[in-house]
Amino acid sequence: MHVTVDRGVCVGAGLCALAAPRVFDQDEEGLVLVLQPRPSGQDRDAATEAVSLCPSRAARVSET
Ligand code: SF4
Repeated sequence: MHVTVDRGVCVGAGLCALAAPRVFDQDEEGLVLVLQPRPSGQDRDAATEAVSLCPSRAARVSET
């Protein structure tokens, strides 16, 4: 799994960091940061959940 984000469309809702705090964080402006681009185990499941919650589709996962 590969986690990517588009900070240009992130609205700073923070749902990703709440759902997967070991994978996503937010900078001082609230914009998403990726802590683990290739999560495994529980972090992988959490990342998938976080992406499903992102209101702007800024956060995405792929299987590459
Ligand atoms: S949930 Fe989406 S819009 Fe909100 S901070 Fe995370 S990436 Fe940005």
